[in-house]
Amino acid sequence: MTALELRGVSKVYADGASEVHALRNVDLVVQPGELVAVMGPSGSGKSTLLTIAGSLEHPTTGEVLVGGNLLTSMSRNEQARLRRRSIGYVFQDFNLLPGLTAVENVALPLELDGVHAKPAQAAGLQALEELGLADRASRFPDELSGGERQRVAVARAVVGDRHLLLADEPSGALDSINAEAVMRLVHTACRRGVAGVVVTHDAQLASWADRVVFLRDGRVVDQTSPPAGPESLLRSQPRA
Ligand code: ADP
Repeated sequence: MTALELRGVSKVYADGASEVHALRNVDLVVQPGELVAVMGPSGSGKSTLLTIAGSLEHPTTGEVLVGGNLLTSMSRNEQARLRRRSIGYVFQDFNLLPGLTAVENVALPLELDGVHAKPAQAAGLQALEELGLADRASRFPDELSGGERQRVAVARAVVGDRHLLLADEPSGALDSINAEAVMRLVHTACRRGVAGVVVTHDAQLASWADRVVFLRDGRVVDQTSPPAGPESLLRSQPRA
């Protein structure tokens, strides 16, 4: 079963009297465990692709399947449950709630989904541990560095049983060391079986992906395996 499938997806926005074709007949398949980077110039449709993949917006034409489920065949409630349970989002500005501690922020999606506070917090703590943040669990967002806040946002996106991680320039506000750390975390989540789609402008960060999809004027113009990424340096060299 695929984690995400876009079939012939187009999105047309009305812009006054004219129309904007944000996406044109886009096909995209992402398998469980696969990390896909989406690149392209500003206005090429990257954010639209992500919001449609996350069922936050509907395509004008075409079909979207998440975990094999056709979104249009699901009720609004079923779609909302899918968003709460299966899809994790990382936004550029982190969106952490300032009145909640790190672990409370991470546990929130589970609590909203009806999980009791104690198991939700335990799962939240585990997600923070996996991202090396266990000792920051009881800090409030304004007591964390920018890099730590972003890692908390990634923990919140992968907490529980999430299958699809969608990230829009997750490292846009970070320096290169923290940006690299965030990609490493997303990459680790994908190695555990989560499918990831990450919008980025940064070719170095895109090199963490299994595949890079290039968009131009709402069309997929190229799909490529990136050159060997930073990880390749860790692999043993073939013997001469
Ligand atoms: P990117 O993320 O690559 O910068 P977007 O997906 O944000 O591109 O936008 C693609 C095109 O769709 C742009 O021309 C943008 O102005 C337009 N667009 C995006 N959202 C809307 C909207 N809600 N209403 C009208 N036009 C929009």
